[in-house]
Amino acid sequence: MKKKIDNNCINEFDPTSLGIEDAIAKIRKSIKSINKHEYINLKNAIGRISSENIKSQINIPTFKNSAMDGYAVQVSDLSTKEKTILLEAGISYAGKPYRKKLENGQTVRVMTGAVIPDNADAVIMNEMVDISGTNIEFGNIFQKKQNIRFIGEDIKKSSIVIKKGQKIRYIDIGILASIGIKKIKVMRKPIISFFSTGDELISIGKKLKLGDIYDSNRYLLYGLLVDLPVIIKDMGVAKDNKKDIEKKFLQCSKVSDLIITTGGVSVGDADYIREILDKVGKIKFWKISVKPGRPLAFGKIKNAYFFGLPGNPVSTIVTFELFVQPAIQKLVSQNIHKKLYLRAITTHKMSKKKGRVEFKRGFLSQIKDKIFVTTKGLQGSNILSTLSEANCYIKLSSDTESVNKGDIVEVIPFAEVF
Ligand code: AMP
Ligand code: MG
Repeated sequence: MKKKIDNNCINEFDPTSLGIEDAIAKIRKSIKSINKHEYINLKNAIGRISSENIKSQINIPTFKNSAMDGYAVQVSDLSTKEKTILLEAGISYAGKPYRKKLENGQTVRVMTGAVIPDNADAVIMNEMVDISGTNIEFGNIFQKKQNIRFIGEDIKKSSIVIKKGQKIRYIDIGILASIGIKKIKVMRKPIISFFSTGDELISIGKKLKLGDIYDSNRYLLYGLLVDLPVIIKDMGVAKDNKKDIEKKFLQCSKVSDLIITTGGVSVGDADYIREILDKVGKIKFWKISVKPGRPLAFGKIKNAYFFGLPGNPVSTIVTFELFVQPAIQKLVSQNIHKKLYLRAITTHKMSKKKGRVEFKRGFLSQIKDKIFVTTKGLQGSNILSTLSEANCYIKLSSDTESVNKGDIVEVIPFAEVF
């Protein structure tokens, strides 16, 4: 007999469902970070999470050098009232330094990035001098320290350049290279496996019969995971039967740190995820007051964390972004930063039911200094095409029932907007 399901998804307001922030806090609290590390070469480090503070062993710049092609001088040699002639004592090229100090009345021709004499305290640009053989004539307008790059002004010796938990970006491997670091210690990649559930799902390459659909969720999940510091295992499809699901759960739990399924998590006749999770693992909670994506299971199977995401593709995406991403960040000890809270003027009336936060697909545009947002097409959680045309989510709070044209709403731009 089918188990009686007490908590359904019929009402918009469901007192047993969790708010987004509460759910994220619970997820992050129950996930223990992986405490394993590896050393990798800089070029492989993009997107990985540093597992230690990295300090610079050197100053950058390591030597005082010129920011311009010009002439290094001691400003005490120059007059502020009239022109001064100094004698060119030598040339300093980038990589071929002039090693002596300036004597009184001397100047040294310097290239950008070249070492300048210890006691030089300004560089005068080429364009500001008159050259006559080795006699260089300077004007009376200059400032002490001008056009000099000082030792350690970019990075000070012993300062931290990469923080523990920081995600390594191209700029970071540039910095690490600039301080001569070849390899860094990063968090091990957790193994994330996923499978779809549903009797209707057909893998691409096969013919569709009436009622079949191609399995797009596994491709979406692959796309959502591919740039994260994780190892992806696509475990295929499970049919809507308890045996198949249980078998896949156990298979995945042996090889994964985190398991994601899509579909079968609601209260339909063929939705077994929750029941099997109860049997072979632990459910932490399973309903969130968010649209799209309310039926969502979180739990554990053996040592692997588990997310049962809803089957509708847009719900899969939204719940992944809202809940799975912070879980992965915790798993790999990634530092998180508060996102900017952006607001835009709505161009149309919008309505929703009270009781849960709603993410609508929107399109942001800019007219002069004002940012406008409009909803983008059909909003059903099965409609992927309108998400593809959108460039932001419009986030409407739980209490909101309607928004009028001209009202200000919160928007979450997609990465490509900037
Ligand atoms: P379910 O959550 O299993 O009730 O599925 C909700 C809706 O999502 C149904 O219309 C399913 O056919 C659809 N769906 C479930 N899994 C997938 C999938 N892997 N790819 C595309 N659509 C899916
Ligand atoms: Mg299903």
